[in-house]
Amino acid sequence: MHSIARASTATSFPTEQLLDATAASSRTWTFTNSETGRPVTVTCMQGCTDDHTQDIATPTHPIDIACWSDQDGDTTLPIDPNTGTVEDLAVLATRIQVDPFSQVVAHRLPYACVEIVQENYIAVDPDGLLSVINTLAGRLHAMRRTHADLVRVRAEYVEREARVEGHVDRIIAAITTPTAEVQV
Ligand SMILES: [Zn+2]
Repeated sequence: MHSIARASTATSFPTEQLLDATAASSRTWTFTNSETGRPVTVTCMQGCTDDHTQDIATPTHPIDIACWSDQDGDTTLPIDPNTGTVEDLAVLATRIQVDPFSQVVAHRLPYACVEIVQENYIAVDPDGLLSVINTLAGRLHAMRRTHADLVRVRAEYVEREARVEGHVDRIIAAITTPTAEVQV
């Protein structure tokens, strides 16, 4: 139970290519459950760009297993994070993630993780404000694409998991009790 199909090829694909690649949806690998010492086989979410090297190399608790896509951009703005010093900080970067054994049941299905914060400021003149608006418009466009990816990746994930014996209850729980926490 230590076959690692295609795991070694995962790191070199750009995100957009991976999200469209059907081969990525069937990437399967095995890790050792640190609690039980038994092998556990995981099939990656479509578009996962984590090569899971550490998960495979050392015994790992199932709740620490996660698949994720690359963030959908690295747009930055010159922001003062309320310190008086302006820094180039990434804004509204979004990625798709799934934690298949999470204690948060809703996270067992692919979800969006958006990097958002408060108390971060930009002081600008009119041209600067227009630049900020255009930058954020570009971010929103990218996020809409990520939303479409999330809908598709999640549907594929549900369909695949539902075919795996023993996973049906896990998927139903994730859909019907999004805020509940249960033991793995
Ligand atoms: Zn993965």
